[in-house]
Amino acid sequence: MKHLQDMLLLGNPLLYQKSEPVLQSELILVKEWVADLHNVMEEIRAKYHFGRAIAAPQLGIMKRVIYMNIDKPVVFINPEFTFLSNEMFDVWDDCMCFPNLLVKVKRHKELTIRYLDENGHTQEWKMKDDLSELLQHEYDHLDGILCTMMAIDEKSFKWRP
Ligand SMILES: [Zn+2]
Repeated sequence: MKHLQDMLLLGNPLLYQKSEPVLQSELILVKEWVADLHNVMEEIRAKYHFGRAIAAPQLGIMKRVIYMNIDKPVVFINPEFTFLSNEMFDVWDDCMCFPNLLVKVKRHKELTIRYLDENGHTQEWKMKDDLSELLQHEYDHLDGILCTMMAIDEKSFKWRP
């Protein structure tokens, strides 16, 4: 089981790598990865009091999997955005790979995400606002992009109060 200390931190080269799609034959492994993602996110929440979702590469699992747990656990396997609104909004973003740093970024206000669920079934979900910016953040992790790389300008950094 992975723990808080297994979270990759800002500067780790793996965080800048693109993750691989989950193959049909690997769907059976997703449950194990999700157990680790769940456990680490719970430990982050207990220590830092934030954390709504986590991407597999944050734990060095270089696979295109996102785990979100707000009201209930949701697993996004091989997600793709099939729609991104032209309308954008600014958000102070945070990340469990650098828990005390906030970064101001622009995100699409609405999106539609298509993904496989844990059973390998295709799902589609239309999201806006909070969920929209959250999934864009997590999706970026799958492509090796951190919100520090998306900062609006040089002053878009703030230490968590
Ligand atoms: Zn993050």
